[in-house]
Amino acid sequence: MDGRQSEGKKRIRWGRILLWICVIAATVAAVWFLLRLVPKEDENVDVLLDTPVELGTEPPTEVETETETDCVVPEPEIDEQLLTINDYSRPGEEIDALEYIVIHYLGNPRTTAQQNHDYFESLKDLQNTSMSANFIVGIDGEIIECVPVGEIAYASNSMNHLSVSIENCHLDETGRFTQDTYNSCVRLTAYLAAKYGIDRDHIIRHYDVTGKECPLYYVEHEDKWEEFKDDVMEYIEECRETAGQGYSGETSVTPAEQG
Ligand SMILES: [Zn+2]
Repeated sequence: MDGRQSEGKKRIRWGRILLWICVIAATVAAVWFLLRLVPKEDENVDVLLDTPVELGTEPPTEVETETETDCVVPEPEIDEQLLTINDYSRPGEEIDALEYIVIHYLGNPRTTAQQNHDYFESLKDLQNTSMSANFIVGIDGEIIECVPVGEIAYASNSMNHLSVSIENCHLDETGRFTQDTYNSCVRLTAYLAAKYGIDRDHIIRHYDVTGKECPLYYVEHEDKWEEFKDDVMEYIEECRETAGQGYSGETSVTPAEQG
């Protein structure tokens, strides 16, 4: 074999090897880059949403309650006393989406939030009716959480699978809330509305679902109902402004007096 020919073949062989090394290196780099784009399972969704990465057209599998944003409205003091999961007051099922806040009154004057909570809990044994609410606001403004937000409560009939419900205690047959109940209901409604992106038109009464006179006083006094929603929206706006001023910690904003 001619020496020059064999040197040429060697050069071609080395050229091919170098080419393959380049191809393999490029492939490894491309795979590494693509893997970085795949979100890790346990990574915070909020963080992922901040990155300019296309998440594809896959529909979200979680209900809307998972897409909550940072809330400008401070969370009111909530006494969490979750009901035992049972067929009569807490079925333990997820709602389809959180689109409405439904306001109620108990229709049972002078009963406390605790008594009503305990009644809802007792239905697992009584088994004679299905009834509950996500929250109960008491006469002194105390708030008890019976069913977690995002779970079905038996309060608002056809809206149960699309809403969070707030029951309110009252002192007499008129169903008018005490000032403490009113203030707590405004704060809780505002907190939930801001947290889950629910607008004024999606804050409704039980009456708006079924025509039932609930919450009675705010069905008989349409202007007071409009005022309630105004107070909720104003409270959110004030909290937003306070947050915008860089104030941190407890807000001094208080809901307007019930007229
Ligand atoms: Zn009701």
